[in-house]
Formats: sequence, structure tokens, C-alpha cells
Amino acid sequence: MELTEAIRQQTIHIQEKIRRACIRCGRRPDEVQLLLATKTVPPENIRAAIAAGARLIGENKVQELRDKDAALQGLDIERHFIGHLQSNKVKDVLKYAGCIQSVDRISIAEQLDRRLQAEGRGLDIYVQVNTSAEDSKFGIAPAEAVDFIKALRPFRSLRLKGLMTIGLLDADPEWRRPSLRQLRLVRNKIMREGIEGIGELGLSMGMSGDMEMAIEEGATLVRIGTAIFGNRIPGKEVWDETAAANSH
Ligand SMILES: *Cc1c(COP(=O)(O)O)cnc(C)c1O
Repeated sequence: MELTEAIRQQTIHIQEKIRRACIRCGRRPDEVQLLLATKTVPPENIRAAIAAGARLIGENKVQELRDKDAALQGLDIERHFIGHLQSNKVKDVLKYAGCIQSVDRISIAEQLDRRLQAEGRGLDIYVQVNTSAEDSKFGIAPAEAVDFIKALRPFRSLRLKGLMTIGLLDADPEWRRPSLRQLRLVRNKIMREGIEGIGELGLSMGMSGDMEMAIEEGATLVRIGTAIFGNRIPGKEVWDETAAANSH
């Protein structure tokens, strides 16, 4: 079988798995969106997944958003940025991404807002929360979340859509559940604060290894790479961007 056909079928299979997971835990299937995590995936393979009905794609590097831009023209898709955002990439990321899921510093929010204001437009964002208490990952601490969200208020161009976490991956799958659940609890705490201008917040969590668990814990957007496109770099953790960069 052609690789693109395998990807198409796998995308359909994952969409069905999402649907069944929702029904099993009493949620409506349309509450959970599928985002294709497309780092290192060439455009023809991304197109195969889009042909199967996927609409959201997420890249970890601004460079990859740019490189694939021309090849993905004309598709009805929304591109998200899901990697660590460096301040020298703010200008470029705004050219390509319709949503940034990894806002984790006020300084970055401020820079995004300044550019967006100048361009007279807004942008969807998620705030990245580190729910695994590992120093190696990015994201704000759960305890800082309420203050952080309040501190975003002056940045009028940023539309807060929800919270994002990578969660604890390096463990028995059931050990991941507490970090997924924590994102939901942080969201609930924010909602209880009744902060002006903050509507219903979504939860971007769940990857190939913990997708169904994330749906059980309230995910509204799952980010799937390997389960659709196959393995990237055997033995390397998915968020290890240094390893990804060295492999090119
Ligand atoms: C790569 C990546 C994913 C997808 O991971 P898989 O295990 O391949 O499904 C999700 N989120 C982020 C931030 C990623 O970098």
C-alpha cells in the first residue's frame, strides 16, 4: 500500500477512535477536535490526512511552517504553532499560524500583541501549562495560572481559547492521567474566578500514547502525530526539539 493511502486510512481510524472514546465517556464527538502534529512530515503526507477530513495542523518550528507553506496553499486548514516560541520568531510565526498554543511568557504575549495591534487583527492562543513538574519542559506552573491569565488581559488582540499541556509521557500510561487531570482542574479554577473577558476554555491535551485518556479527562483538542504518520525518530521523545533539529 502507498504510504499516503495508509495515512489516509489511519486518519479515518483515529477520527473513529476519537468518536468512540467520546461516546464511551458520555461526551459529544464534536466536542473534540483532531489536530495533526506534523513536525518532520512532508506536505504530501499532510495532504493525505487532510483528504481524510482533518482540518487542523500543528508545527513545532516556524521554519517548518514556512517551508511547507507553499505546498499547503489552497487547503481549508488552520495552522497552529505548538512548539516553544522564541522571541526572535514572533514576526515570522504570525505570517503562518492562525493559533499559537504555546504562550508561556508575558513577554511573548506582549510582543505578539504589539505586532497584532499594528496589523489591526487578533489571534487565537492557548496558554501552555507544565503539568508534569519537569524542569525540562516549557509552560507556566499550574499555581501561576490564574495570575498569568489575569496578566494577559491588557493584550486585547489575543483571544484566549484554552490551555495546553504536553503532560507526563515518560511513564506508565496510567501515571499520565494525573497530569492530564491537572490541566482540567486548572481550567476549572480559572473559570471559577470569573475573569472578565474569559469565556469557556478548551483543553489541548492528548497525543498518540494517551489520546483516549485525555478525552476521558476533558480534552477538547488532541494533537496526534505518530499514530497517523508513523514514527519520527526512534527512541527520541517527541518534544526533544534538539534531537529533531540534529536529525535533519
Ligand atoms: C509531536 C507532538 C505531538 C504529537 O505527538 P505523537 O506522540 O507523535 O502523537 C503533540 N504535541 C506536541 C507539542 C508535539 O510536539
